[in-house]
Amino acid sequence: MALGFFKSVRGQAGQAQADVPAPVPCDARPERTAVLCDIEELGVGMFWATDADDRLTFLSQRALEDLGQDGESLIGKPITQTFRDIDNEPGAPTQRSLSFKLKARSKLEEQIVAFEGGRGTTRWWRLNGRPLLDATGAFLGYRGSAVDISGQYFYETQIARQSQVDELTGLANRRKLNERLTATLAAFRATKRSCALMMLDLDRFKQVNDTMGHPAGDELLKQVAQRLTAIVKDRGEVGRLGGDEFQILLPDMDDRGILSDLANRIVQSVSQPYQVSGRRAIIGTSVGIAIAPYDGIDTDELTSAADMALYSAKGINGGTFCFFTTELRDEASRTAVLGDRLRDAVDRDDLTLAYQPLVDPITNEVKCFEALLRWHDAEQGVISPAQFIPIAENDDLIVKIGDMALRQACFDAMAWPDTIKVAVNVSAKQFVRAGFRNTIAAALEVSGLSPSRLELEITESVFVGDLETVDAIFRDLKKLGVRLALDDFGTGYSSLGYLKHGHFDKLKIDQSFVRGCTENGDTNPAIITAIVALAKALGMETVAEGVEAMDELDLVKQRGADLVQGYIYSQALPQEEVLAQVSNGAMKFTPNGPPRHRSDRISIFRKVGLIHEDHYYQVILRNLSKSGARISGLAGVPVGTDVVLDLGHGQLVVSKVVNASESSQGLQFETTLISDGGGGFMTRNRISPYSLAEAGIPLAALGAGAFPLAKWRAANKTAPRFLQLDIGI
Ligand code: C2E
Ligand code: CA
Ligand code: CA
Repeated sequence: MALGFFKSVRGQAGQAQADVPAPVPCDARPERTAVLCDIEELGVGMFWATDADDRLTFLSQRALEDLGQDGESLIGKPITQTFRDIDNEPGAPTQRSLSFKLKARSKLEEQIVAFEGGRGTTRWWRLNGRPLLDATGAFLGYRGSAVDISGQYFYETQIARQSQVDELTGLANRRKLNERLTATLAAFRATKRSCALMMLDLDRFKQVNDTMGHPAGDELLKQVAQRLTAIVKDRGEVGRLGGDEFQILLPDMDDRGILSDLANRIVQSVSQPYQVSGRRAIIGTSVGIAIAPYDGIDTDELTSAADMALYSAKGINGGTFCFFTTELRDEASRTAVLGDRLRDAVDRDDLTLAYQPLVDPITNEVKCFEALLRWHDAEQGVISPAQFIPIAENDDLIVKIGDMALRQACFDAMAWPDTIKVAVNVSAKQFVRAGFRNTIAAALEVSGLSPSRLELEITESVFVGDLETVDAIFRDLKKLGVRLALDDFGTGYSSLGYLKHGHFDKLKIDQSFVRGCTENGDTNPAIITAIVALAKALGMETVAEGVEAMDELDLVKQRGADLVQGYIYSQALPQEEVLAQVSNGAMKFTPNGPPRHRSDRISIFRKVGLIHEDHYYQVILRNLSKSGARISGLAGVPVGTDVVLDLGHGQLVVSKVVNASESSQGLQFETTLISDGGGGFMTRNRISPYSLAEAGIPLAALGAGAFPLAKWRAANKTAPRFLQLDIGI
């Protein structure tokens, strides 16, 4: 630390050196003491001395007064008992400890020590001193001087503290984090080490702050800080950037598997309920992750990558984490464009509703239709509500869209048999807005639909912020007579407390528990059983969502789910098709789907690279799972061939060809991929830009495309073994 104060103390120290008494012959001592007493009385300084065991043998009278003690009690005690080091004090300059210096018998120069003075106040002295040796060189003790620097020290360290520490939480502040990140990245570049950066933004913190007041908000931030520090421990540094934004710096971390585990634990921990000002509050957090040198090599680049990942995590409704990818950079601008286009679509009434049946799996009868928004954009085709609802939630557009969906769904349901209910999704933003109850009441009145036929699907994300206000909204809605369903159960804020209040008539088990629930060793069947039992005990109906395969249907039926919703029965249908069914009088759906669920396999159509020997081929990725992929675009690849699949962004996957047809091959990965948190897969590790730099490629963050070294190496020195087909994309 280069503060003026410490320099000036140093300056004084220079003069004070002269104050240190030189070793004196014993016979001169009384005279000498008299001189020193004069100096003391003039206020120039204080003196002290110790014996060979570092025990105090002398202290100036003024020093004793300062120490608030009678001389007798200090004399004879180890000096390190009277004075303590300042190294743990925030903002303090760094120095060796007093005991270290004493043990080493080194000179004390500007040693700052603290002690508890009279009336419980802390005081600080600057000590100078030197060891005293006898004629034979034996150590006799220290002699030294002291200056009281308390006032100045407190003021200067406070400034230092404020410039580095966040006053509220005691965590590192933005400035310190930035300095630390810059220094770490520079140092790590030289030693080729990696460093991950997590950016956090609390979900719905503003709500707590607004409804419960700023002191409650402050208290909440402190508790969040404690939870974060408890999780991160000494793996990294947690800081607060300001507001409800936190940052975590994790040196030597580039394994995206470990990082997702850590991010998951952070999300889970932050979303546990809080007790603030005697009330309960729940918030969540979104996390964006970027890793140097892969995603950025300097502070600005890495911070902006982590920011973009955070933005994307927030877009997925919060309560989740997201890794940076170069696609995110393009997505940010696409989102802005989509927002404008959505506004036009709403004005032009381009959004429609489709209805997906919720079927009783025993009788195959439809009990309810869920209204799902559909947007057919002239340019982009069908755009998923999962994509545009979060955009609409960023402003008042969600209110307009939500109102439209409610009115239309109530109106459409009037044309169905009375026994069939209609379920409408309500976003948390809509739910907590004043006037929501009136919107429902109006939709019911205008359409003439009986309230008992309207079901509102709400996700766990409404249980955030001030829970008493949320409770009041629930009571209002129950009074209206509408039914309430808890959607996506098990994915959100994982607090079962709110189920006790008995607001819900129905619990929808999230697709993530249902999909693949029959695969060996899966805990999902146990979770489904537990959810069904819990719901029954609390008098709620259960729905298994996202059932696609026959074995999944059998399982959820056997575990007692009351209703099933999924492609096994039907996708969402336009109102005309629902009406056609109604007029046929058959409100039954026949289950129809593959016999078994296939391991989470995503269909893809993307050009990627394939490395074999010294050749780099272009192939098309057809589908991808955690453990393998199907590719096309090469002919004559025998089963058993070892290849490396290049998924882009420095993701290389060592694979083996396990089956092959004329132009398509099935690959099995040596190491399984991990989930990217957004429904896709990624490799744990990536090729480091450092190793690329060693091969002569300029050091830079990884690009979206193929692994440059592979291309560069693939100078096609030998004849290619396989036939590259024209893949035309
Ligand atoms: P959700 O409420 O969980 O709706 C179920 C989603 O799962 C729907 O996606 C549905 O098409 C899909 N799905 C149903 N069965 C299966 C299956 O067997 N396999 C697979 N893979 N998917 C299945 P969709 O229509 O894309 O809607 C996505 C989300 O958008 C909805 O999730 C809901 O959160 C939101 N959303 C849709 N319509 C509205 C609306 O009117 N208002 C609000 N606030 N949100 C809506
Ligand atoms: Ca739903
Ligand atoms: Ca759902």
